[in-house]
This record gives sequence, C-alpha cells and structure tokens, in this order.
Amino acid sequence: MPRKKNQAAITLVLRDQQPPLAVDHETVPPHDRKLDFGERWAYAPAPEQSDYLRIRPRYQLFIDGKFRPPHSGRYFDSINPATEAKLAEIAEADAHDVDLAVKAARRAHSRVWSRMSGRERGKYLYRIARLVQEKARELAVLESIDGWKTIRESRDIDLPLVAAHFFYYAGWSDKLRYAFPGRTPRSLGVAGQIIPWNFPLLMAAWKLAPALAAGNTCVLKPAETTSITAMHLADILQEAELPEGVVNIITGPGLTGKALIEHEEVEKIAFTGSTRVGKLLLKAVAGTKKKLTLELGGKAANIIFEDAPLDQAVEGIISGIYFNQGHVCCAGSRLLVQEGVFPAVIRKLRDRISALRVGNPLDKNTDIGAINSRVQLDKICELVDSGLQQGAELVQPRLRLPKKGYWYPPSFFTGVTASPRIAQEEIFGPILSVMTFRTPEEAIERANNTHYGLSAGVWTDKGSKIFKIASKLRAGVVWANTYNKFDPTSPFGGYRESSFGREGGLHGLLPYLSLL
Ligand code: NAD
Repeated sequence: MPRKKNQAAITLVLRDQQPPLAVDHETVPPHDRKLDFGERWAYAPAPEQSDYLRIRPRYQLFIDGKFRPPHSGRYFDSINPATEAKLAEIAEADAHDVDLAVKAARRAHSRVWSRMSGRERGKYLYRIARLVQEKARELAVLESIDGWKTIRESRDIDLPLVAAHFFYYAGWSDKLRYAFPGRTPRSLGVAGQIIPWNFPLLMAAWKLAPALAAGNTCVLKPAETTSITAMHLADILQEAELPEGVVNIITGPGLTGKALIEHEEVEKIAFTGSTRVGKLLLKAVAGTKKKLTLELGGKAANIIFEDAPLDQAVEGIISGIYFNQGHVCCAGSRLLVQEGVFPAVIRKLRDRISALRVGNPLDKNTDIGAINSRVQLDKICELVDSGLQQGAELVQPRLRLPKKGYWYPPSFFTGVTASPRIAQEEIFGPILSVMTFRTPEEAIERANNTHYGLSAGVWTDKGSKIFKIASKLRAGVVWANTYNKFDPTSPFGGYRESSFGREGGLHGLLPYLSLL
C-alpha cells in the first residue's frame, strides 16, 4: 500500500508491511484521532496546570552550594519533546568545572559531612524528603515537560518514590552499625554519579540518598536531555540548608561524565545508563581503586501461562511497556505467551492498544506521552524497520499523531523468532515483541535467551509455578501477577549485562561504605 505524502506514517499497520519510518504526521491536536476499530468517544482534555511554573531561561552549574556559570561559557538547549519548543539553556560543564565540583565535594566530606553524626545527616535527608513532597506537583509537571513521562506517571509514581527514597535512607543514617552488625562502616569519600534520562529525579534520588546517608559527598551528572528537574532539586538542597559542597550537580554531555569518572579524587562511581557506556566505564576504572556500580539495560520477558487471569495479565503488560513508552530499563519488552491462549491474548492486546491515548503528556487522560528525543525516535524506527525486514509482523492502531514533537504509537510484533534484533536489543520505545512457547521449560529458555537479566514477569494462577519459574529465571527482579512495582526497601539490579552491584534497600548502602 503506497504511503501518501501527507498520510500519517503510522496509519493502520495491522498487517501492513510498510515500514513506519518517517514521522510526518498531520497536525491534529492530541486525542483527536481515528481508531482502527471505528470511531470511539474521547475524554475531554484535562490538562494539568503549568502556567505557574518558573522555568529559568538559563540553568547554571550547582557547585559548592552556589549556582555558577560554566568555565567554557557554553550552554546547550533543553527542549520539550512533546512540542519541540526550547525550554531553557543548560550549562555545559567541562573538566575544569568537574574539578571544582569534585574539590568542593572533597572539602565538604573531610570538613563537615563525614564528621557529622548519622543523626544529624539523617535530619538533612528528612528535610529534603519533606521539601520534595511539598513541591511534588510542581516537580512532576516539570518532569513531564522536560522529559517524556505522562503526568500520571511522574505525579503518581516518580515523585512519591523520590520522596520515599530520601525518607528511607534518612532512616538508615544513624543505624549503619545495626545494618552491618559487628562491623564498623566508613564512608568512602566523593561519589561521582551519572544518571540517564528515563527517570531523571528518581535516579537522582536513588543515587544521592544512600550515598549521603552513608556519609559520602556527591557530584551528580544528569542526562543532557533531562537536566532541568535536577537543577530544581539543587534549589531544594539550598532550601534544606545542606552544607555547601555536600551535593554538586554538573550538567553536560557524555564528555562531562567522562571527566567525572576519570577524576583522581573520586572514590566511588555509580552509573545508570546504557550497557554500551557501562562497558566504557568498566574499562576506565580498571586498575584504579575506584569502587563501581553499574545499572544498565534490560530486555525483560513477561511470561503468560494458559492458566493466567488473562485480562489482568494484559493490563499488566500494557502498564509494563506502554504507560512508560518502553523508556524503562525493566520494561516488559518481550512477551512470551503459551500457545493455547495466544489468539485470545493477541485479540485483547490489539483491542487494548487501540484504546490507548497518545498525546499531551500533561493531560491527565493521556496514556502515552512523547518519545524523549529525536535521537531516541530514530533508534526506535531503525529497530522497528529491522524487525519488519526480518519478517516479523507489526500491529499498530490507526493513529494520527501531533505533527510537532516526537511520537511513536503503541505497537507489537508477532512472528518474532529468538534471534532478531527486536528480540535481543533494547528498543526503548512502546513496542512489544511477542513470542509463543509450549512448555514451562521452553518459556524459561526463551526468557533467559538474552545478554541482559534485569527483570521478568510471570502470570499464572498457580503459586507453585511462580516459585518454580522465578527460581530459574536469570533476572534480578521477578514480578508475579503484577509488574513494575518499586519500593525503596527492595534491592534492584540484574544479571549479566544488566548490572554490576545492587541499588535500593540495605544492599544499596553497601557500595557507599567500607566495612572495617
Ligand atoms: P546513556 O548510557 O547514553 O547515558 C547515560 C548517562 O551517561 C548520561 O548522563 C550520559 O551523558 C552519560 N554518558 C554518556 N557517555 C558517557 C561516557 N563516555 N562517560 C561517562 N558518562 C557518559 O544512557 P541513556 O540513553 O541516557 O539511558 C538509557 C539506558 O539506561 C537504557 O539502556 C536503560 O536500560 C538504562 N537504564 C538502566 C536502569 C537500571 O536500573 N538498570 C535504570 C534506568 C535506565
């Protein structure tokens, strides 16, 4: 079927072999769309208010308790991926700025933070947690504007978890000796922490809270496309009167991160991001005394058995891959369905994705927001193309997407074999690769057939089957009859190319301590 010039690139692709490459959609407001299964009613827009937000035209570096311009004088743009509108200019830190930040953190560690009692450190963390709660709505809106998340995700999941992490680790600050009985825990010094764009504030909390509770000082580098909320977190640190230099936030590209991990006075490196960059870091710290934890990619399998409650399972699959645009390391991006229920699951999936609302991330009815960046959208399109070329069938609802911004509709592949790229690589978009299996053994083998091993899901009516399957899955986190549930008390991490070390819970303190 030839594609007309002005036609939505991703119009009905149910069994259409046209590669959905270009994103040349018609201009229509979000939610004004035609569905594959006929017109359906739509919710009236319910946008979250955002006019009170004070987004600064320029964000500076946060070093030694103060905002300061970058040494190079260079700034880069941060844009709203849903509109492509420029939001602000972000300072680009170079090696000189990194050096200032690390030296400030070192001074703060030796003069203030490592000498302070755990009880006092805990008070600061509680204060930060309460301030995050107080400003949660504003931060959630900022996160949805600067990043990609729907307001539902940032307001109901990310922000509560950010506060919960600070509260949780605040509680450990004065109990480190009880956490590791018979040992004397000591902080390491300066932690260099690098985070990705998919959970900007939550990843900052995952990194900062345990490091500070353990008595370390920090230099944090957010991802270049999502730096704004990190700088608003710096405002909160100032308001909490955190001693100068205890947390420094430097913005910039990969080169800024590289300068941070190579700095001689950084004792501990904590990185969350792609496996590709994680491997570079592993090489960079080899032969040094730096401690390293890596949280990397994933290609999680959700396994649906014939005895599973299918509606509940399909809803879990939807929330595990589509509500987060697939922009999550533990997104359930592979679906393994037992053969007997394959037709029913596919029918339910197809119906459900055709009812998902794609559009304005600030609308409370939106299920799927924008893709984080043009680069990410291009990666998604390239991988989808490779899937089509390898013979898989793409199922997509008929959607008209906004012309401006970066969008990809909820989709799934059927006819996927074990080895193609779409079954092995992170697509990091709202695309599911569906495969079938006959026996539990085959399900386990297929689920484990990946370089990753971060997370998995099992859907069945039988508790015994859950335990049996979970014990054989090479995944750090296995959810049963639910998906993507997080809690600060619970450790998180994976096998093989997914992780090196653990974050969260008591396990998350250990990488920031030496135990004498
Ligand atoms: P990325 O690796 O491209 O970038 C992550 C961070 O590293 C960014 O701040 C970037 O500026 C920085 N960076 C890039 N090159 C660097 C270098 N040479 N030296 C030092 N720093 C460098 O990853 P991304 O695209 O921002 O994030 C998506 C990836 O993150 C996915 O693979 C996802 O699975 C992974 N992730 C994993 C977890 C987890 O807990 N396992 C959580 C969230 C995201």
